[in-house]
Parts: sequence; C-alpha cells; structure tokens
Amino acid sequence: MYKEERKEIIKSALKLVKYDIVRLSAGNLSIKCGNQGQHIVITPSGMDYEEINEKDLIVLNMKDKEVVEGFRRPSVDIDALIHIYENMSEVNAIIHTHQVYATCLGVVFDKLPSVVTTLANATGGEVAVAPFSSAASLEMGKETVSNIGDKKAVVLKNHGVITVGKTMKEALYSAVYLEDAAKVFCIAMTLGKPALLTEEQTREAAEIFKTYGQEKA
Ligand SMILES: [Zn+2]
Repeated sequence: MYKEERKEIIKSALKLVKYDIVRLSAGNLSIKCGNQGQHIVITPSGMDYEEINEKDLIVLNMKDKEVVEGFRRPSVDIDALIHIYENMSEVNAIIHTHQVYATCLGVVFDKLPSVVTTLANATGGEVAVAPFSSAASLEMGKETVSNIGDKKAVVLKNHGVITVGKTMKEALYSAVYLEDAAKVFCIAMTLGKPALLTEEQTREAAEIFKTYGQEKA
C-alpha cells in the first residue's frame, strides 16, 4: 500500500540527512494517506535513515493506531502526530527533527523572527517557539497545534522542530530553510543587531514563492 508515499518519505529522509537536518535515527517523517485520510505512513522507531527502505515504513490507522501494514515499531511520537493530523485538516505531511540551529534559538528566544526571504517562502514567516514537550508525549502534538498558527513550522523548546505541509515537499522545504534562517540569525546575532524583514516584505516573499519553480506539465 501507498508505494508513492513510501518512496517520497525515503527520498525526503535522505535529503534531510544530506542537509544535516537529522542525524542517525532522530525525529520522524509521516504522510497522511487513504481516500478519507484514514491512514498514516510513518518511519520506524530508532532506525538510521540511511539504513531504512520502503519496507521498513509502517502504515497505521489514524483512529486506533493499529498497524495495517509493516513489521517494525513505528516512531514513539505517534500520539502527537495523530493529534496534529486530526486537528489540522490541511496538513498531509509532518516532519519532526532535532535540527541544531533552530533548536538553539528555541532555548534562548520565544520566536525566530522573519529574517530572510527563504524563511518567508518556506514557513510563511516568523516561527513560534512552543513550551517544552518531551519525546513520545501527546503534549508535543498539543503544543504544536496551539503554537504553530498559520505557519508551516514550530520550534519545540529544548527539544526540536515540527514542520508541516500540504505535501511532504512543503514540510521538507520548511525544515531545510528554517534551519538556514536560524543559522543566519544565530551568526548575525554574534555580529550585531540583525535587520528583520517587515511584514510587507515577508508577505511579498511568500507571494513570489507561489509561482516559483517549474509548472507541472
Ligand atoms: Zn524529538
């Protein structure tokens, strides 16, 4: 089941490794599937991304977490992820990471301001920092839903990052460009007071991104 979604998850996981957004087995990737969005395809618990393949992914029922297909144990964050899918109907894909720069900002600040156009493009602008929630907790999902607003990312204090998207590609871009923006902001802070984008500049940058790239044939 869900061959294309499985491929998409493996491909995206390897990109996250390549860009140093995830290391070893940390975090997870999942996609909502099925004609009624009744299933989730998700990465397994505690397996290195570079060593997993499509057969290692697990298909679960959204409702009761029952495994529909797969022989691995799913990510321990499954309760939080289901909570996000159930409360954010527009979300079809979620990535959870422990990316260093965004997490670093989260232990010092209460938000990552809109500091570069790529952040505006990928997340919609300023990214909030949610209060602490631990791995494997439902709280992680609740804090995400309460704090993410209309953006595609939220930082979980002392923990990591959740990014979401209508597609896995959106969640992937959000994670990668959030990390770039966080890195720019961290380094800029060591040099002086960073200039931030205005609301209008952020909006314009997000608008331009809608027509960015190649049109589908
Ligand atoms: Zn985590």
